[in-house]
Amino acid sequence: MKRRTLLQSGSIVLSLGLPHLAHGATILTVRVWPAPDYSRVTIESDGALKATPLFVPSPPRLAVDIEGITLNPALKELVGKIRADDPNIAGVRVGQFAPNVVRLVMDLKRPMRPQVFALVPVANYQHRLVLDLYPEQEADPLDALIAQHLQADAKPVPAPQAAASAPTPVSADPLADLLAQQGKPAEKKPADAPVLAIEKGAAPALSTASMVKNTNNLGKTSANTDRLIIIALDPGHGGEDPGAIGPGGTREKDVVLRLAHLLRDRINASSVNGNAMRAYLTRDADFFVPLQVRVQKARRVQADLFVSLHADAFFTPDPQGASVFALSHGGATSSAARWMAAKENKADLVGGINVKSGDATVQRALLDMSTTAQISDSLKLGSSLLGEIGRVGKLHKPRVEQASFAVLKAPDIPSVLVEAAFISNPKEEAKLRSDEYLTQLADALMRGIQTHFAKNPPQARNRVSG
Ligand SMILES: [Zn+2]
Repeated sequence: MKRRTLLQSGSIVLSLGLPHLAHGATILTVRVWPAPDYSRVTIESDGALKATPLFVPSPPRLAVDIEGITLNPALKELVGKIRADDPNIAGVRVGQFAPNVVRLVMDLKRPMRPQVFALVPVANYQHRLVLDLYPEQEADPLDALIAQHLQADAKPVPAPQAAASAPTPVSADPLADLLAQQGKPAEKKPADAPVLAIEKGAAPALSTASMVKNTNNLGKTSANTDRLIIIALDPGHGGEDPGAIGPGGTREKDVVLRLAHLLRDRINASSVNGNAMRAYLTRDADFFVPLQVRVQKARRVQADLFVSLHADAFFTPDPQGASVFALSHGGATSSAARWMAAKENKADLVGGINVKSGDATVQRALLDMSTTAQISDSLKLGSSLLGEIGRVGKLHKPRVEQASFAVLKAPDIPSVLVEAAFISNPKEEAKLRSDEYLTQLADALMRGIQTHFAKNPPQARNRVSG
């Protein structure tokens, strides 16, 4: 039997029929969150589960024995919930392996680094067993950049339209994706793509060499007037973390992703002093991205600005209007700002992160670096955005507020968090559901970004190590 082979191929020792698990837990529901970054399976139950994972590299499979449960319809549904287009999971089989042990076997599309961990009840969730599948091959952005730079001279620059319609390669390297969209032919593109300027008649066609953000220029500080300006857009929440939910059921995570897409379109059609602008989304689908990972992602592509998008809630339906936040050195500028930061910083608890995965400490040390200049720049960016938002909607506060938001802690990128509206206010919830308002808002944010760059031209940047 195949299953027997699988069991014997590992060094795992199964403890079958544990007497202390006489009263097993019941599986309530299973959820699947596929994304190129990683795919997650969440198994929610009314009691803690004990799981023993076993990864088999060839062909790549993850087997997980879950003790103390019997196979029930909720768990069987998992099989049908794996989408054919899941970038990581090919399929799942579940079976009652022993009287109180369910074995789940996931067939994987590529080699993976699985993480299996449990989460205690939080928010509306009971016990969760989380199976995260991270692709093993995670390209180093710098390696990818240099490779593209070396290819650049021989390759023509395709038209933006052609690039947009090209198949999106599944890549673990965000900057490579951006550059592919920008000017470099995607892998499957024909080599004879037409050569066109990025903006007809106005901006020159950018060479990939100039787009690699000075990697060809390491150690020099010469002003680079011909480079890609990257705006990191960070749609809040996602996946297990719906964010705030409006009285009509509108979910913050959906609204902010829609807003990010609208703003991305505008950014990708814009330029600053002849330099093309490109948006980079920290998430481009419905999956959870931990707060520190959002910061890391923006730093990996050396974003010029970081704009986190939210639409949060209050206990009562009355509060309304947009707010813009920057990081604070210590205390918050108001108790409302402190409350909002504390609320946003809880996203990891709801979204679910593996606290034992190790690199969190290093990241925290990095993010506690001095941020005086960053805060000053962030306040400038924030007030440009606030000024424009105020022309299309109500403002909650007429100035940029400050508090200790974890997601704003990139020490080298001006970073702001925009609360587009209060989703808890029925009128504002209705606005957030309307494409008309979201479009106005995206236009306003775009104008705000342009205003900021007009006052604070983007600096030549050299690669920041780390
Ligand atoms: Zn939020």
